[in-house]
Amino acid sequence: MAFLSEEMKAQLMKVVGVSKDEFNVLLEKHSPEISKCEENLVRSSPFDIQQILFKNIIETEGLNELNELKTIEDKVEWIYSRLMMDQDFRNIRNLLPERKEFKDSIKSKELKEKGNHEFQRKNYQEAIRFYNQSFISASSDKEIALSLANRSVVFFNLKEYSNCIQDCKAALLFGYPQELVYKVHERTARCCVQIGQTKEAKENILQAKLTLNKAKLSEERRETVEADLETLLKGLPAEAADHTLTNGAVKVEIKDDSHLKLLSRNKKFPNLSRSVDIKFNPEAGRHAVANSKIQPGEVILEEIPLTWTINPNQTLRTCIRCLKQTGKHMVPSKQRENLFYCSLVCYNRATESADLNLEKMQADDHRLVDLFCSANESSATTMLAFWAIRSQPLDFFVTNESALFEGISPEFGINTPEGWKLEGKEQIYKNLYNLVSHTDSLPEETLLDILITSTVLLRSLS
Ligand SMILES: [Zn+2]
Repeated sequence: MAFLSEEMKAQLMKVVGVSKDEFNVLLEKHSPEISKCEENLVRSSPFDIQQILFKNIIETEGLNELNELKTIEDKVEWIYSRLMMDQDFRNIRNLLPERKEFKDSIKSKELKEKGNHEFQRKNYQEAIRFYNQSFISASSDKEIALSLANRSVVFFNLKEYSNCIQDCKAALLFGYPQELVYKVHERTARCCVQIGQTKEAKENILQAKLTLNKAKLSEERRETVEADLETLLKGLPAEAADHTLTNGAVKVEIKDDSHLKLLSRNKKFPNLSRSVDIKFNPEAGRHAVANSKIQPGEVILEEIPLTWTINPNQTLRTCIRCLKQTGKHMVPSKQRENLFYCSLVCYNRATESADLNLEKMQADDHRLVDLFCSANESSATTMLAFWAIRSQPLDFFVTNESALFEGISPEFGINTPEGWKLEGKEQIYKNLYNLVSHTDSLPEETLLDILITSTVLLRSLS
């Protein structure tokens, strides 16, 4: 994670030629909310500190010249050319944090064993917690699969059969050892029996019998397992009796709990409820006003965001697809370490669709993400703007340049003719441009922060 170590701090002080006291004064001057500087340094990203140093360079160069420039583009160019004289800015990618190495097979195994121990003592929630922790340091898919399978047993004992089925499926997905596969099929079958999914139960019993060949069992033990499976099969209700194994696929329907929906849509802003109007006044800008009584629990906005991000310090706790808390049925990402889904349902949705998803967004350069998203709020916003733009091909912006960026309208979408709707890529990006472009009303200090951040992003990309 992007923490500033004492070494890095010493390096920064050396580069700018200031003492520790001067450095701390500089930091406090620019971040007055910092009362305990040392403590804060541990929480800060290297970018927070670097930004203060860059800001100092710009202020020393003279802000008057910068303030006289008319356009944002000119200002960014001016700052870029001034900062290019600084070695740290020129080599900005040296500042990108190395991702902390979490992989530790021994630790993962220890955590899994702690989970087993808690399970034996019937401390089920504790057991789940340890299995989930073991994912973080797991260094192979197999280790993850073993913990997932163990967690499925906990869910079985808690009578949480759907969760158990999900974990069995996840364990197979992560490459559960072939010689043990019969076990997860048997467990899935027992869950299916409990929740009345007879067809799936039979399918899984047959799979268990089939995969039992690969199990490393004594003859005696094998016979016991076979007999158990036979008993389970015979106990199934009659309608499944003549079912034959088709293609080996294990299909279990798992219900999704996302049921929040807009009941009626606003004519101009279809993502808003009809109970809300968009108004404008110079003080508040555009804002939403209720036009009728809104019932408690009524959904008033439903929208797929253009982009989002998660502070890298929060990725263990936040699902990278739906942003819910990961919780007890979390499933690790198969592609990227230290990213998690809240459930197998989310995992499958993300991998099956072209959904916007942090895993995909981070694929290019997670170090860039770590640098910006662990820093201050305006840095994260810069990263979001970058992603929002990157999610369309360059052609889109070139073709629509005049329509998208023809000027800022603070009343965008309000006095439009009957039949106009905020929909389609052009309108949505034009709306975004109108939302984020009020640079003339930003306090000078904030504007300078944003300009520097944007310049650093530009340099990082080049
Ligand atoms: Zn989720």
